[in-house]
Amino acid sequence: MNNNEFTFETRLLHNRHKIDPTTGAVSVPIQHASTFHQYDIDQFGKYDYSRSLNPTREALEDVIAELEGGIRGFAFSSGMAAISTAFLLLSSGDHVVITEDVYGGTFRMVTEVLTRFGIEHTFVDMTDLNQVQAAIQPNTKAFYMETPSNPLLKVADIRAICNLAKEVQALTFIDNTFLTPALQKPLELGADIVLHSATKFLSGHSDVVAGLAVVKDEELGKRLGYLQNAFGAVLGVQDAWLVLRGLKTLSVRLEQSQKSAQILADFLSSHPMIKEVYYPGLKNHPQYELQQVQALGAGAVLSFELADEEAVRTFVANVKIPVFAVSLGAVESILSYPAKMSHAAMPQTEREKRGISNSLLRFSAGLENPNDLILDISQALGKVSESQLALHQGEHL
Ligand SMILES: *Cc1c(COP(=O)(O)O)cnc(C)c1O
Repeated sequence: MNNNEFTFETRLLHNRHKIDPTTGAVSVPIQHASTFHQYDIDQFGKYDYSRSLNPTREALEDVIAELEGGIRGFAFSSGMAAISTAFLLLSSGDHVVITEDVYGGTFRMVTEVLTRFGIEHTFVDMTDLNQVQAAIQPNTKAFYMETPSNPLLKVADIRAICNLAKEVQALTFIDNTFLTPALQKPLELGADIVLHSATKFLSGHSDVVAGLAVVKDEELGKRLGYLQNAFGAVLGVQDAWLVLRGLKTLSVRLEQSQKSAQILADFLSSHPMIKEVYYPGLKNHPQYELQQVQALGAGAVLSFELADEEAVRTFVANVKIPVFAVSLGAVESILSYPAKMSHAAMPQTEREKRGISNSLLRFSAGLENPNDLILDISQALGKVSESQLALHQGEHL
């Protein structure tokens, strides 16, 4: 029986790196060496220098490639290092069609850095295929997707966009950070490169910054491997080990967090203090059906809109369980304020155009008991209601 016959949950634990061949160790050894002795002046060994290839990093690269259904994986020092290195596949004069509510760091890279190298872009709402089609130019060489998007959880049709890209021989990049291969396999839907901030769900414990890329094509793998070595933003071995360790519990963590996210989304949807809930697991989400078709679940991240910025301030000051922080995808719930955190790199006018208002909060469900989360959120919303009431009474004095 080969590994591919096992389910995803089993393959998280039983892959070809589960036992170290030299010692039988059941955890991947951390190989700190930066360089490797060469026994033959004419014939170097497989490893020569750790920027180019390191056995610990290689284990992680193999594991993520297998989990995404690709043939080669690459580990980088951050999600942004993975994304930026992938963009180095492009050249001056090329054009990228990119989803409009892309991660703030990717927005910064595309608008402030790539433009200096003559790489152009067009932002589109990728839920609208007509907009995607209309944005194509003779020099379009890549489509960049993030689905569900951040922070509005819009869902793009991966297969349809990959088909459009193939018609014009452009590459498709997809940031799969929010769902991970546990829930979504973009390579199987036609994408060329899957990118990850492994800082989030893949490692899952808010204790490492890492990035990954996976491809399914040998030739593209060679080009990206060349760039990984040329640019040199590789992941350190301790951090590679932490991601490997985190991956083992990915399925159980994500399953539990996703359950909680659904419970919270349902609860918030019927709460009078909440103006809007964004979660693709809600039946009234505009792409609910599409999400059901192209992924195994809606994930563990949701966003919601309060009345105004004042309400956000009161809520954040009173909520007790979630950490109030940048990031997502961890064992502890994380509450974020996109306008000042993940999307701070986006000017306010651009944010508002995209519906990322100052009253929007993002919630990444952790592993706490969902009943506790609901109790906590309820009491914090109660405080928002009290303070709004007090304000109204003040007006009538
Ligand atoms: C965090 C994040 C990134 C950037 O990853 P880093 O590891 O912080 O560099 C990219 N895309 C998404 C969707 C993210 O959430």
